Amino acid sequence: MASDFNPFQVAQSQFDHVADELKLDQEVRSILRWPLREFRFQIPVRMDGGGIRVLFGFRVQHNDARGPAKGGIRFAANETLDTVRALAMWMTWKTAVADIPLGGGKGGVIVDPSTLSVGEKERLCRGFIEGVWKNLGPRIDVPAPDVGTTPQMMGWMMDEYSKLTGQYAPGAITGKPVGGGGSLGRTEATGFGVICAVREAMKYLKLDPKKCSAAVQGFGNVAQYAAIGFIEQLGGKVVCVSCYDRSDKEIYTYFRPEGVNPHFLQSITDQYGTIDKAKAKEAGYLIEDGETWISKDVEVLIPAAVEGQLTAETVKHISPRVKIVAEGANGPTTPEADEVLKERGIFNIPDFLCNAGGVITSYFESVQNDMNYYWQHEAVLRRLNQKMTMAFEGVLKLSQEHDVYMRDAAYRVAIDRVVKAMELRGWI
Ligand code: NAD
Repeated sequence: MASDFNPFQVAQSQFDHVADELKLDQEVRSILRWPLREFRFQIPVRMDGGGIRVLFGFRVQHNDARGPAKGGIRFAANETLDTVRALAMWMTWKTAVADIPLGGGKGGVIVDPSTLSVGEKERLCRGFIEGVWKNLGPRIDVPAPDVGTTPQMMGWMMDEYSKLTGQYAPGAITGKPVGGGGSLGRTEATGFGVICAVREAMKYLKLDPKKCSAAVQGFGNVAQYAAIGFIEQLGGKVVCVSCYDRSDKEIYTYFRPEGVNPHFLQSITDQYGTIDKAKAKEAGYLIEDGETWISKDVEVLIPAAVEGQLTAETVKHISPRVKIVAEGANGPTTPEADEVLKERGIFNIPDFLCNAGGVITSYFESVQNDMNYYWQHEAVLRRLNQKMTMAFEGVLKLSQEHDVYMRDAAYRVAIDRVVKAMELRGWI
């Protein structure tokens, strides 16, 4: 990624593009182009050696017209305030397109968590909450895990928040471990939701899933459950998955023309999504270059790894058989590649619609926390399916009525809902 790449400028220009098309009032634009509130704070962390390391944390609340701000906390060495702003803005659109009564927020700390011991991580999590707790809460802003943070860390944060406020407050943070205030179904939620969207796209395109194949990029949380869902929910075949190999720092595609077995692959994959190459080879998988997933002769491509994978260059290798690109990852498609997908008439399910299953289930977690009553696994997935289907239908309808690309339609639905809430509250 170029060093001058600024995600917040990208987020603002995407917004400007749709705002122009919608002929949105300049005053409304100036509210939505920037976060409503931003917090930057020091987090002095006591290190195991006895010294203190001062880290910097951010929390950004982009918009809360539709409900409390919602979004993850990232621990990353290259974190910047602009990255957090961009992600907070995208969360506003994601919660709006999913039609859950929440706004958009995001947090971050500039730190590589792999350099910290377990105790140091716990003190950092508690320090983050100490730095910003007065501006968080179930009715204000509800964080969750993201890159570099885990359910255990959310458990520590929830505990610290509860201590500071003097009451058990599980709804202050989502993505907590099951048994510690977490929701059943959260683990598979994003991949499951991706497959609900793919199913609806196939219905619209009149494709029989049982006769369709998919190629999946990545084999982390989203990709694993998307692959399982494509096979078990839809009855289709997944011919390959791919991953970044942490030991030799290369990317590989694991190809099996007769279909991969994602449960077997899960059993030989580590917590970071790296598949054991030797064991896969022994089981008959063909191990290819990391780029080959995109050129497979399939109906559905599911990029579910990292951003910027469908580019002007890689998009040339997409097979003429491909009908759907379902964006499990955030930002996998560059604007240049988007143009090619449009020209080729490939149906795109844009990221903030396609991968909304995670935040929808986080919302269910806070609802359960509020009620202090927990749903069965089956009930969570049923409700998630309902929400994903409705979100997809809403975007598809607008896309057809106004003859616009699915990504632009998703933006229009989201911006419309946020503007409406601001109007109803008398902000504009
Ligand atoms: P993860 O860290 O669990 O898995 C990432 C996977 O991608 C790993 O298998 C890794 O080896 C692989 N990978 C990394 N770089 C690659 C490359 N260049 N080519 C091929 N594979 C590569 O992450 P995740 O939670 O599955 O998230 C994946 C994407 O989905 C991210 O963009 C994330 O922001 C987005 N997302 C995740 C969730 C969620 O609930 N986990 C929700 C919404 C969006």
